[in-house]
Amino acid sequence: MHARIRHVVLDRDGVLNAEPRDGGYVTDWSQWQWLPGALESLAMLSSSGLCISVATNQSCVGRGLLARDRLDAVHARMLEEAARAGGIINHLFVCPHAPASGCGCRKPAPGLLRDAVEATGIAPCETIVLGDDLRDLQAASAAGMPAALVRTGKGASTEASIIENEVPVFDDIHEFTIALLSDSIAPVRPRNP
Ligand SMILES: [Mg+2]
Ligand SMILES: [Zn+2]
Repeated sequence: MHARIRHVVLDRDGVLNAEPRDGGYVTDWSQWQWLPGALESLAMLSSSGLCISVATNQSCVGRGLLARDRLDAVHARMLEEAARAGGIINHLFVCPHAPASGCGCRKPAPGLLRDAVEATGIAPCETIVLGDDLRDLQAASAAGMPAALVRTGKGASTEASIIENEVPVFDDIHEFTIALLSDSIAPVRPRNP
C-alpha cells in the first residue's frame, strides 16, 4: 500500500454508482446501480485498513427535488450493501445545497473534504480523493489533497478537459484500488496546497 495514504475520499455518482441518466438524480434505491467492481473495491480498501469516506454533492435536496430523509434512506442502503460485501464506509459527507446558496461545502469548494479531515484526524497529505468530475479534483486541490480521476461517470470527458499528467487516471475504482494497494500509484501533489 502507498506509504502515505491512509484515507480515501470517494465521490459517489460516477465512481461508486452509475451516473443517473440525463443529469438527473438517484431519488430512490431502485435507481441505484453499483458500478462493476465498486463493491469489491470497497471491501479491498477496508480489509487493507484504509479509512473510507464518501463525499457527494446532492443539490437535488436544495432544489426541492428530493426530501432529505429519502436521500438518507438511499445512503442507508448504500452503507448496508457495502458492509455486507465487506466494505466499511466510515464516513459520509453530503452537500445538500443548491448551487445558488453559495455554501462552502458544494464541490469544488473544499468544505466536505475539510469535514473529512476533522472527522478522521487524518491529514490531507495522507488522504486521496477519487472522483469523476473536475469539481472533485478542484475540491481536492483546494483542500491540499492528492487526487485521482476515474473514467467512469463523467470521467472520460473530464479527462479530455484536464491538463496532461495533472492527476493519475484509472479506468474505474477497481483499477485505482489495485494501484493504490500495490503502491504503484503516484499521486501528483496538489498545485495549491
Ligand atoms: Mg461524480
Ligand atoms: Zn453545501
